[in-house]
Amino acid sequence: MVFDCVVVGAGPAGAAAAYHLAKRGRSVLVLEKHSLPRYKPCAGGVSPAIAEWFDFDFSPVIARKVDTIGYTWKLEDPVKAKLEALDPMWMVHRDVFDHFLVQQAQKQGAEVRDSTPVTGIEFKSDRWQVSTSNGSVEGRYLIAADGAEGPMSKWLGFKQPKRRLGAILEAVAPEAEHLDARFEFGMVKNGYLSSFPKENGCSIAAATFRGGDPSDLQNLLGDYATQVGIPATACKQFTHSLCLWKGNQKLHTQNALLAGEAASIVDPLIAEGVRPAIFTGVKAAEAIDAALASSSCALENYTKTVSEEWGSDMAWAHRIAGAFYRFPGLGYKQGIKRPAATVYFGRILCGQMRYSDIANTAIKRLSGGLIPGMG
Ligand SMILES: Cc1cc2nc3c(=O)[nH]c(=O)nc-3n(C[C@H](O)[C@H](O)[C@H](O)COP(=O)(O)OP(=O)(O)OC[C@H]3O[C@@H](n4cnc5c(N)ncnc54)[C@H](O)[C@@H]3O)c2cc1C
Repeated sequence: MVFDCVVVGAGPAGAAAAYHLAKRGRSVLVLEKHSLPRYKPCAGGVSPAIAEWFDFDFSPVIARKVDTIGYTWKLEDPVKAKLEALDPMWMVHRDVFDHFLVQQAQKQGAEVRDSTPVTGIEFKSDRWQVSTSNGSVEGRYLIAADGAEGPMSKWLGFKQPKRRLGAILEAVAPEAEHLDARFEFGMVKNGYLSSFPKENGCSIAAATFRGGDPSDLQNLLGDYATQVGIPATACKQFTHSLCLWKGNQKLHTQNALLAGEAASIVDPLIAEGVRPAIFTGVKAAEAIDAALASSSCALENYTKTVSEEWGSDMAWAHRIAGAFYRFPGLGYKQGIKRPAATVYFGRILCGQMRYSDIANTAIKRLSGGLIPGMG
C-alpha cells in the first residue's frame, strides 16, 4: 500500500498532522521509534490555545491548571503574579498528553506503528520509500516530525540548526503539590529554571538560550530541588536537545515538510515548543491535503504560512530574549517583577496577544531605558 502521507515521529507535531490528515480522509501512517506511550523530557506547560485546533476535549489529560506564577532571582527577591489570561496554563504529563493525541489520530483512521525507528528515506519516481527497522513503507508525501534529535531534516538536505541543551528533573513528591508554577532566574547563566506542579509532584526544567556552558544544568536542577524541599530520592533526571527559532527557513522540499521541533520552531525566549509543534502539524496537514488535491504551490505556501503566522512573532521573541538574557538581573527588576509582565506572558501564551505588541517597550526597558507608564 502507498500511504498518502507517512509521518515520522509521534510527538505533538506528528500526532496533530496525522489527526488532521486522517480527518480529511487521507491515508496516514505514523512511525515512532519508541514504544508508546513514550516520555519526552519536558516541563509540560501547555498553552490552552491549542484547544482551538481540535474538536475534542483535552480535560482527561490536563494534570493541573495554573493561573499564578512565582519568580525568584537567585532564590531571593520573590514575587508572585496572576496570569490573568482567558484560560489558565495547562500542566500535562507528556507521555499521557502525547499518547492521547496519537489515540485521537487513530480514532480518525491513522495507522500508528511504534517501536519502529525510521532508518533511511529515498524519493523514487513519485513517492517516498521509508526504511524502518521492520521493513520499508511508501508514502506520496512525508512529514518529518521527529523532534530536536531526529535525523530527518538532515536526510532531507536541510541545514542543521545549532542545538541547545535542556534538562529536566521529574519529582514524584506529594509535598511539592502546593507549589505554584515558578521561574528562577540568575541560577542558570543565560537561561532559567522553571518548576511546574503536577498532581503528584512537579517537573523542574533548566535551559540555556545564549552561549554558555550547559554541562552543569543537571547539578543546578538538583540544587534547586533541594532548596524548594524536594528530596533527591524522589527525582529522576533527563536531558534533551532544544532547537530554538533562529530565523525563518524553508520548511519544504520534494513532497516533504518539516514540522514541530524538526523545523526549529521553539520560542527562543521561554522555550515553548508544544503549541508551535501542534500549529505546524495542523498547517502541514492542510498543506499536504491541498497538495494531494493537486495544488502545485501547497508545500511552498506551508513555509510561507509558518513564517508569517509564527516566525514573524518569533523574530520579536528573539530580540526580547537578546535584551533579557544579556542583562538578566536588570531584566528581572525592570521586567519580570512588574505584574504587567506576567499578564502579557499569559496573554501571549494564550494567543490573545503577540510579542510584537510589547516588543519595543520591553526591549527599551530591558536595555535600561526607562519608559514611564508601563505596568
Ligand atoms: C527541558 C525542556 C523543557 C521543555 N518544557 C516545555 C514546556 O513546558 N512547554 C512547551 O510547550 N515546550 C517545552 N519544551 C519543548 C517541547 O518539549 C518540544 O518542543 C516538543 O516536544 C516538540 O514536539 P515535536 O512533536 O516536534 O517533537 P517530539 O515531542 O520530540 O517528538 C518527536 C518524536 O519523533 C520520534 N523520533 C525521532 N527519531 C525518529 C526516527 N528515526 N524514527 C521514528 N521516530 C523518531 C521521537 O521518539 C519522538 O517521539 C521543553 C523542552 C525541553 C528540552
